[in-house]
Amino acid sequence: RFISLEGGEGVGKSTQLRALSAALRARGIDVVETREPGGSAGAEAIRTLLLTGAADRWSQRAEALLFAAARADHVEKTIRPALQRGSWILSDRFVDSSRAYQGMGELTDDDILTLHRIGSAGLLPDRTFALTLPEAEAERRAHMRDGGDTDRIGARDSTFHQRVARSFRGFASAESDRVRIVDASGAAQTVTMRLLQGLDDLLP
Ligand code: C5P
Repeated sequence: RFISLEGGEGVGKSTQLRALSAALRARGIDVVETREPGGSAGAEAIRTLLLTGAADRWSQRAEALLFAAARADHVEKTIRPALQRGSWILSDRFVDSSRAYQGMGELTDDDILTLHRIGSAGLLPDRTFALTLPEAEAERRAHMRDGGDTDRIGARDSTFHQRVARSFRGFASAESDRVRIVDASGAAQTVTMRLLQGLDDLLP
Protein backbone atom coordinates (compact mmCIF):
# COMPACT_ATOMS: atom_id res chain seq x y z
CA ARG A 1 0.00 0.00 0.00
CA PHE A 2 1.04 3.54 -0.72
CA ILE A 3 0.13 6.25 1.79
CA SER A 4 1.02 9.93 1.55
CA LEU A 5 0.83 12.62 4.21
CA GLU A 6 0.16 16.16 3.15
CA GLY A 7 -0.42 19.45 4.89
CA GLY A 8 0.89 22.95 5.25
CA GLU A 9 3.80 24.10 7.36
CA GLY A 10 3.76 23.22 11.03
CA VAL A 11 0.95 20.66 11.06
CA GLY A 12 3.17 17.92 12.48
CA LYS A 13 3.50 15.88 9.31
CA SER A 14 6.93 14.41 10.07
CA THR A 15 6.01 13.50 13.65
CA GLN A 16 2.88 11.77 12.42
CA LEU A 17 4.76 9.97 9.69
CA ARG A 18 7.10 8.44 12.27
CA ALA A 19 4.28 7.57 14.64
CA LEU A 20 2.13 6.04 11.93
CA SER A 21 4.94 3.91 10.58
CA ALA A 22 5.73 2.67 14.11
CA ALA A 23 2.06 1.74 14.54
CA LEU A 24 2.02 -0.11 11.22
CA ARG A 25 5.28 -1.94 12.01
CA ALA A 26 3.74 -3.04 15.31
CA ARG A 27 1.07 -4.70 13.17
CA GLY A 28 3.75 -6.65 11.30
CA ILE A 29 3.76 -4.47 8.20
CA ASP A 30 7.05 -3.69 6.48
CA VAL A 31 7.12 0.09 6.10
CA VAL A 32 9.39 2.30 4.01
CA GLU A 33 9.38 5.94 5.15
CA THR A 34 10.22 8.45 2.49
CA ARG A 35 9.73 12.11 1.62
CA GLU A 36 9.36 14.63 -1.17
CA PRO A 37 11.09 16.38 -2.65
CA GLY A 38 13.64 13.59 -2.27
CA GLY A 39 13.39 9.92 -1.36
CA SER A 40 16.03 8.67 -3.80
CA ALA A 41 19.60 9.77 -4.51
CA GLY A 42 18.67 11.68 -7.65
CA ALA A 43 15.60 13.24 -6.10
CA GLU A 44 17.56 14.32 -3.01
CA ALA A 45 20.02 16.08 -5.33
CA ILE A 46 17.09 17.89 -6.93
CA ARG A 47 15.77 18.73 -3.43
CA THR A 48 19.01 20.59 -2.75
CA LEU A 49 18.52 22.57 -5.96
CA LEU A 50 14.97 23.43 -4.93
CA LEU A 51 15.51 24.33 -1.29
CA THR A 52 18.79 26.24 -1.48
CA GLY A 53 19.77 29.44 -3.23
CA ALA A 54 17.74 32.57 -3.73
CA ALA A 55 13.98 32.31 -3.33
CA ASP A 56 13.51 33.39 -6.94
CA ARG A 57 16.15 31.03 -8.28
CA TRP A 58 13.59 29.07 -10.31
CA SER A 59 10.73 30.25 -12.45
CA GLN A 60 7.37 28.69 -11.60
CA ARG A 61 7.54 26.42 -14.63
CA ALA A 62 11.11 25.31 -13.99
CA GLU A 63 10.22 24.65 -10.35
CA ALA A 64 7.24 22.48 -11.33
CA LEU A 65 9.41 20.52 -13.76
CA LEU A 66 12.08 19.97 -11.11
CA PHE A 67 9.49 18.66 -8.65
CA ALA A 68 8.12 16.36 -11.37
CA ALA A 69 11.61 15.14 -12.24
CA ALA A 70 12.40 14.47 -8.58
CA ARG A 71 9.12 12.59 -8.23
CA ALA A 72 9.83 10.49 -11.34
CA ASP A 73 13.14 9.35 -9.88
CA HIS A 74 11.59 8.77 -6.44
CA VAL A 75 8.81 6.63 -7.93
CA GLU A 76 11.12 4.59 -10.13
CA LYS A 77 13.96 4.05 -7.65
CA THR A 78 12.19 3.87 -4.30
CA ILE A 79 8.40 3.66 -4.42
CA ARG A 80 7.72 1.09 -7.13
CA PRO A 81 10.43 -1.36 -5.99
CA ALA A 82 9.14 -1.20 -2.39
CA LEU A 83 5.53 -1.75 -3.45
CA GLN A 84 6.62 -4.68 -5.60
CA ARG A 85 8.32 -6.24 -2.56
CA GLY A 86 5.04 -5.93 -0.68
CA SER A 87 6.21 -3.13 1.60
CA TRP A 88 4.07 -0.16 2.47
CA ILE A 89 5.27 3.27 1.47
CA LEU A 90 4.66 6.20 3.78
CA SER A 91 5.62 9.38 1.99
CA ASP A 92 5.94 12.81 3.54
CA ARG A 93 4.25 14.68 0.64
CA PHE A 94 3.57 13.45 -2.89
CA VAL A 95 1.93 14.77 -6.05
CA ASP A 96 -0.87 16.55 -4.17
CA SER A 97 1.78 18.94 -2.80
CA SER A 98 2.71 19.83 -6.36
CA ARG A 99 -0.97 20.27 -7.21
CA ALA A 100 -1.40 22.56 -4.22
CA TYR A 101 1.90 24.48 -4.43
CA GLN A 102 2.85 24.48 -8.13
CA GLY A 103 -0.65 24.09 -9.60
CA MET A 104 -2.14 27.36 -8.52
CA GLY A 105 0.05 29.92 -10.27
CA GLU A 106 1.05 29.95 -13.92
CA LEU A 107 0.32 26.24 -14.14
CA THR A 108 -3.04 24.56 -13.54
CA ASP A 109 -3.96 21.38 -11.71
CA ASP A 110 -4.30 19.72 -15.13
CA ASP A 111 -0.77 20.79 -16.06
CA ILE A 112 0.63 19.23 -12.88
CA LEU A 113 -1.30 15.99 -13.46
CA THR A 114 -0.01 15.91 -17.06
CA LEU A 115 3.58 16.26 -15.83
CA HIS A 116 2.86 13.50 -13.34
CA ARG A 117 1.56 11.21 -16.10
CA ILE A 118 4.68 11.82 -18.15
CA GLY A 119 7.10 11.48 -15.23
CA SER A 120 5.54 8.80 -13.07
CA ALA A 121 2.77 7.15 -15.12
CA GLY A 122 0.29 9.02 -12.94
CA LEU A 123 0.90 6.82 -9.89
CA LEU A 124 -1.37 7.85 -7.02
CA PRO A 125 -1.33 6.77 -3.37
CA ASP A 126 -3.99 4.38 -2.08
CA ARG A 127 -4.70 6.93 0.62
CA THR A 128 -3.64 10.52 1.14
CA PHE A 129 -4.10 12.29 4.45
CA ALA A 130 -4.19 16.07 4.44
CA LEU A 131 -3.40 17.22 7.96
CA THR A 132 -5.11 20.49 8.74
CA LEU A 133 -5.11 22.89 11.64
CA PRO A 134 -7.22 25.91 12.44
CA GLU A 135 -5.37 28.82 10.83
CA ALA A 136 -4.24 30.57 14.01
CA GLU A 137 -2.79 27.34 15.38
CA ALA A 138 -1.01 26.60 12.09
CA GLU A 139 0.64 30.02 12.10
CA ARG A 140 1.65 29.74 15.73
CA ARG A 141 3.32 26.36 15.09
CA ALA A 142 5.04 27.55 11.90
CA HIS A 143 6.52 30.51 13.80
CA MET A 144 7.80 28.27 16.56
CA ARG A 145 9.56 26.11 14.02
CA ASP A 146 11.00 28.57 11.53
CA GLY A 147 11.01 31.74 13.59
CA GLY A 148 9.21 33.58 10.84
CA ASP A 149 6.38 33.38 8.39
CA THR A 150 8.31 33.24 5.16
CA ASP A 151 8.49 29.82 3.68
CA ARG A 152 11.67 28.19 2.39
CA ILE A 153 10.51 28.44 -1.19
CA GLY A 154 9.77 31.97 -2.28
CA ALA A 155 7.99 34.60 -0.26
CA ARG A 156 4.89 32.94 1.09
CA ASP A 157 2.44 34.57 3.42
CA SER A 158 -0.63 33.39 5.25
CA THR A 159 -2.85 34.04 2.20
CA PHE A 160 -0.67 31.60 0.29
CA HIS A 161 -1.03 28.98 3.02
CA GLN A 162 -4.79 29.49 3.11
CA ARG A 163 -4.91 28.80 -0.62
CA VAL A 164 -2.89 25.64 -0.11
CA ALA A 165 -5.31 24.49 2.60
CA ARG A 166 -8.24 25.23 0.29
CA SER A 167 -6.65 23.14 -2.47
CA PHE A 168 -6.38 20.14 -0.15
CA ARG A 169 -10.04 20.52 0.85
CA GLY A 170 -10.90 20.58 -2.86
CA PHE A 171 -8.97 17.35 -3.54
CA ALA A 172 -10.67 15.70 -0.56
CA SER A 173 -14.12 16.50 -1.87
CA ALA A 174 -13.36 15.61 -5.50
CA GLU A 175 -11.42 12.42 -4.66
CA SER A 176 -13.03 11.37 -1.40
CA ASP A 177 -12.00 7.70 -1.73
CA ARG A 178 -8.35 8.60 -1.71
CA VAL A 179 -7.90 11.98 -0.02
CA ARG A 180 -9.03 12.46 3.57
CA ILE A 181 -8.79 15.60 5.67
CA VAL A 182 -7.50 14.81 9.14
CA ASP A 183 -7.70 17.23 12.06
CA ALA A 184 -4.12 17.73 13.26
CA SER A 185 -5.03 19.48 16.50
CA GLY A 186 -4.82 17.86 19.90
CA ALA A 187 -2.26 15.41 21.26
CA ALA A 188 0.05 13.72 18.77
CA GLN A 189 -1.22 10.29 19.84
CA THR A 190 -4.79 11.36 19.15
CA VAL A 191 -3.85 12.46 15.65
CA THR A 192 -2.09 9.13 15.03
CA MET A 193 -5.29 7.32 16.08
CA ARG A 194 -7.25 9.40 13.57
CA LEU A 195 -4.81 8.37 10.83
CA LEU A 196 -5.05 4.68 11.76
CA GLN A 197 -8.84 4.90 11.68
CA GLY A 198 -8.52 6.35 8.20
CA LEU A 199 -6.64 3.21 7.13
CA ASP A 200 -9.26 0.79 8.47
CA ASP A 201 -10.29 -0.45 5.04
CA LEU A 202 -6.67 -0.93 3.88
CA LEU A 203 -5.23 -2.72 6.90
CA PRO A 204 -4.76 -6.50 6.65
O1 C5P B 1 7.56 19.03 3.86
P1 C5P B 1 8.29 20.31 4.11
O2 C5P B 1 7.42 21.33 4.79
O3 C5P B 1 9.62 20.12 4.76
O4 C5P B 1 8.56 20.85 2.62
C1 C5P B 1 9.70 21.51 2.24
C2 C5P B 1 9.36 22.76 1.47
O5 C5P B 1 9.01 22.50 0.12
C3 C5P B 1 8.22 23.54 2.03
O6 C5P B 1 8.61 24.90 1.95
C4 C5P B 1 7.07 23.25 1.10
O7 C5P B 1 6.14 24.28 1.11
C5 C5P B 1 7.80 23.13 -0.22
N1 C5P B 1 7.16 22.32 -1.24
C6 C5P B 1 6.69 22.90 -2.40
N2 C5P B 1 6.14 22.13 -3.38
C7 C5P B 1 6.08 20.79 -3.24
C8 C5P B 1 6.55 20.19 -2.07
C9 C5P B 1 7.11 20.99 -1.09
O8 C5P B 1 6.73 24.10 -2.57
N3 C5P B 1 5.58 20.08 -4.23
